[in-house]
Amino acid sequence: MSTKVVKFGGSSLADAEQFKKVADIVLSDPTRRYVVASAPGKRFSGDVKVTDMLYNCYSLAVQGESFAASFESIEQRFNDIIAGLGLDLSLEKEFEGIKDAFAHRAGRDYAASRGEYLNSIILAKFLKFDFVDPAAYIRFDEQGQFDLETTRELLSKKLAESEYAVIPGFYGSMPNDTIKTFSRGGSDVTGSIVANAVNAVIYENWTDVSGFLIANPMIVDDPEPITTITYRELRELAYMGATVLHEDAIFPVRKANIPINIRNTNAPEDKGTFIVSDTAETARYTITGIAGKKGFSVIQIEKDMMNAEIGFGKNVLRALEKNNVCFEHMPSGIDTMSVIVASESLIGKEKAVLDEINYRCRPDKMEIENNLALIAVVGRGMRKQRGTAGRLFSALAHARVNVKMIDQGSSELNIIIGVEEEDFETATRAIYDMFVMTAQE
Ligand code: ASP
Repeated sequence: MSTKVVKFGGSSLADAEQFKKVADIVLSDPTRRYVVASAPGKRFSGDVKVTDMLYNCYSLAVQGESFAASFESIEQRFNDIIAGLGLDLSLEKEFEGIKDAFAHRAGRDYAASRGEYLNSIILAKFLKFDFVDPAAYIRFDEQGQFDLETTRELLSKKLAESEYAVIPGFYGSMPNDTIKTFSRGGSDVTGSIVANAVNAVIYENWTDVSGFLIANPMIVDDPEPITTITYRELRELAYMGATVLHEDAIFPVRKANIPINIRNTNAPEDKGTFIVSDTAETARYTITGIAGKKGFSVIQIEKDMMNAEIGFGKNVLRALEKNNVCFEHMPSGIDTMSVIVASESLIGKEKAVLDEINYRCRPDKMEIENNLALIAVVGRGMRKQRGTAGRLFSALAHARVNVKMIDQGSSELNIIIGVEEEDFETATRAIYDMFVMTAQE
């Protein structure tokens, strides 16, 4: 029997009603054998995620303050779910154990992980699945790096004993057996690890949106969903701020060539987005997605005969390295070079960086320009299409957007443009209109 791994995010498991939707989804397909669960998320906007409640409660414990009331509101979240599902289950013993561990300062990661732990006990009971605590099977090394090889070995052996199981997301443990979590949103990573360990045919990641959209819905009205995206395209878009999935969730499934399907718990009939390593599917549009970010600065450097000076680029980059500043792009002309960096990374370092470049490179002229926004236009379909850049720039010219920088990677997978921050939204809409709206007519 082929095996699917399904992961449900916090909003999909925020209360009893959501649990029922999850159960319908899982039980409707017997190949959905391994379920990875997040802690209860927000039930409404303004609500607090259980993970945040746990962090807060643990801080009180560490400061030696009373945390009983704070812990009680966490217990309440779980007890409400149990009651709403009509389950014959009491977590009292678990609560006592956790409170005791808080009082003994069991660690922030331990504290945060209890949301996933408790929620998964409830879900396992509700689904009548086994409960598998990842503490013994998802392992980190001495340096705190996740250890895929060891984990794969331990976890695949353990899961082979269970036909159906629920596994808490977000954590594993260190060689000394203390609990360690991934970074926030890390249940996505657990799902990917479990999919790798059981050689799943697919990793379904259930959340509260129907996959990725071609553009940011805060900028473009009702953008179309992306049906299929490759890992590489996703990486380009994620770099520019498009987030639905934890970045580290890609590696374990990509390594095993397992596709990810982003699905919506609140609209289970929607097909969502497939993330694949390669696809033969012809892209509907030339572009797969548009993403962008504000907050970049350009260091413009001019020097006569720069192109003939050996080591010029290296010296510029050394100056940045020395100040611990990472560069994003470096488009260059014959006697000019622009280095694009996140403005944030220059705070308090601007003068030091310029002085260092001056000292190492002796440029004729140099200036920093702020308030730049970058927009990445990404698509595997661009490779085979002539005229993509032409259409892109004529769309921007029509919208009266001045393009300050252009960078097309040689992979022809993306074109990155730099515009004034105030043109960011207009530019994004113009690109969407050109490649999606116009293409439909
Ligand atoms: N509960 C954790 C968080 O809020 C992990 C997750 O939901 O993926 O970050």
